Amino acid sequence: MSAAKTVDQSALLPESLRDDFPILSRDILEGHPLVFLDNAASTQRPRQVIDAISNVYEHDYANVHRGIHTLSERSTELYELAREKVRAFVGAKHAREVIFTPGTTASINLVARSWGGANLQPGDEILTTVMEHHSNLVPWQQIAAETGAVLRHVPITEDGRLDMAAFDQLLSERTKLVAVCSISNTLGTINPIDEITSKAHAAGALVLVDAAQSVPHMPVDVLKSDVDFLAFSGHKMLGPSGVGILYGKESLLDAMPPFLGGGSMINEVRLDSFTPAELPAKFEAGTPPIAPAIGMSAAIDYLNHIGLEAIHRHEQVLTQLAYDALSQIEGLRILGPAPKHRAGLVSFAFERIHAHEFAQVLNDQFGVAVRAGHHCTQPLHALLGISASTRASFYFYNQPENVDCLLEGISAVQSMFAPQGRRRRRKHNS
Ligand code: PLP
Repeated sequence: MSAAKTVDQSALLPESLRDDFPILSRDILEGHPLVFLDNAASTQRPRQVIDAISNVYEHDYANVHRGIHTLSERSTELYELAREKVRAFVGAKHAREVIFTPGTTASINLVARSWGGANLQPGDEILTTVMEHHSNLVPWQQIAAETGAVLRHVPITEDGRLDMAAFDQLLSERTKLVAVCSISNTLGTINPIDEITSKAHAAGALVLVDAAQSVPHMPVDVLKSDVDFLAFSGHKMLGPSGVGILYGKESLLDAMPPFLGGGSMINEVRLDSFTPAELPAKFEAGTPPIAPAIGMSAAIDYLNHIGLEAIHRHEQVLTQLAYDALSQIEGLRILGPAPKHRAGLVSFAFERIHAHEFAQVLNDQFGVAVRAGHHCTQPLHALLGISASTRASFYFYNQPENVDCLLEGISAVQSMFAPQGRRRRRKHNS
């Protein structure tokens, strides 16, 4: 029976939302409409976001802040309105705590270089986890090498959750910063950020949250969670690529030296010195991502209209459906915890089929787009004893029928590559 038929329809968002996304009506294969399950890498954009971007280029574009002509004033107004939208979206106190960057990676590098460079001493510890994206590992490795700080990693439990007992042991007065993802882009694990911030603060450490996978999918409130820094990307939440956010508490950002030097980030420049601008300009050197920020603002309007709680609920249904069906397949290993501890993605590995081959056939024969590889979590894959996995990641425009397409593809690929593979009936505890 179709897995889709077993679903509680009342928890789902309407299928008609898909019509807002022009690219989703594209056929990849004749007779196979696109099934896009690669949303953790980048989502698609609704017409409203595409229109906002083309509108600004058609009617309102000029460089921001420096001009006194109408177009510059208009694009400055839209750019600053975007900042205000982001502020409200993540519950920050002040718009000046919201810095536009090129993305999550750039935001984390900003903190590592600026805060880390100014504050880390030999022997200080940065506590991160084994489930981090390379973006939340490599910048800390780099700054640790430069400052003599030491990097420590919180392990995971058997079922792919953060080992909080180990966290408690690793956290000490030497810990200066905890750098952790709110949702693992490979395991799907939702981490207990509120508990982490409260314990870290009690130990005197700051907390940076890599929120690339949470801000697009569930409500995030920086004040309630008391995070010190939060990083995320526009392209994972219906917005354009090339824009992301660093949220930082005002007192911390104020005390940090500028990261990049150049135009816009200065108050006054002499031949041999400069004074930095106030926040947020201090961290926005050069021409910022003007149209992408305005596109991100339209994406936030769209997400607010649907509601983040409803999006999360919808994704939970799809995840449960996929998890239950995948856990019945012999020779397939699901990475990460049971659905109640995970967000809207499921990664898995086959005993006998390489993830790349698998994803290729799914695309070429079924029009199903999934991601295959290490998902920028090589250390985590090494720990799990595999070099690659396949990841199906959902968004609110996916429907249970898309999970059926995935399952149909898996079954076909299995009989193609491993005819001996059979479905098994096994009860899974969740
Ligand atoms: N952190 C996580 C958890 C991610 O999933 C990603 C992207 O996949 C990143 C960081 C990097 O984001 P970006 O490439 O937009 O900088």
